[in-house]
Amino acid sequence: MQNTAKPQADIRLGIMSALAEEQSGLIDAMENPSRLVHGMREYTAGSLWGIESVAVLSRIGKVAAGMTAATLVEKFGVTHIVFTGVAGSADPDVQVGDVVIADSLVQHDMDASPLFPRFEVPLTGLSHLPSDLALSDRLAAAAGKFLEATSGPRLHRGLIGSGDLFVHDGKRLAALKSALPGLLAVEMEGAAVAQVCFELGIPFAVIRTISDNADESAAVDFVEFVRTVASRYAFGIIENFCRSWTL
Ligand code: SAH
Repeated sequence: MQNTAKPQADIRLGIMSALAEEQSGLIDAMENPSRLVHGMREYTAGSLWGIESVAVLSRIGKVAAGMTAATLVEKFGVTHIVFTGVAGSADPDVQVGDVVIADSLVQHDMDASPLFPRFEVPLTGLSHLPSDLALSDRLAAAAGKFLEATSGPRLHRGLIGSGDLFVHDGKRLAALKSALPGLLAVEMEGAAVAQVCFELGIPFAVIRTISDNADESAAVDFVEFVRTVASRYAFGIIENFCRSWTL
């Protein structure tokens, strides 16, 4: 008998965001969705453009994101995780509306010195937690295709810093930047997901649309951007990303 079904990628994708606006639309696009509430989060499992997926809002900050990532793996059996959300720019070349994909992530508020070097996650030997290259390449291709249609925004790849801090202070950002050369963006979850995925051996990628410049006007810019733009990006890029496995 001939099998006419589309080839299915052998993955179960976890899709995380911190805020509803960073993920809205994706839940509605899911085929055969089923919901489960666990640990103050709602996990929705279903099929997204042919990819078996579980979408969840992590809530904000490193512990919230780490807990959610571990649950996605241990309870929902995801094989890959993509975090999609917004971030503050940490580089003059990276502008509001641009997209940053992490090559590696650092917990910029981790400092167990002098016992361990500043930024190193104790007992991992790492300060820069690398994301999965193949998954990040696939995400970059999906983002590039999405951005082609919207002239202006650019795609960057490099270092993303995460901390339990909404950075809204130019001086603070400059200090971080000088301690972490190559830092492109700051947010509050990615490097926690990176640590969990590193420890559990799960490939992951992080994509962030720049919502603000992490300076004194960050709070206002952030709210406006999240309200108007963030969800369009997440939806378009994740659609291209899922389709890329089955086309
Ligand atoms: N509940 C508030 C605060 C959101 S915190 C609200 O909705 O208005 C900001 C979120 O966006 C975090 O999840 C973080 O990952 C990201 N983010 C955007 N800009 C940031 C910045 N300048 N510093 C740190 N995180 C930022």
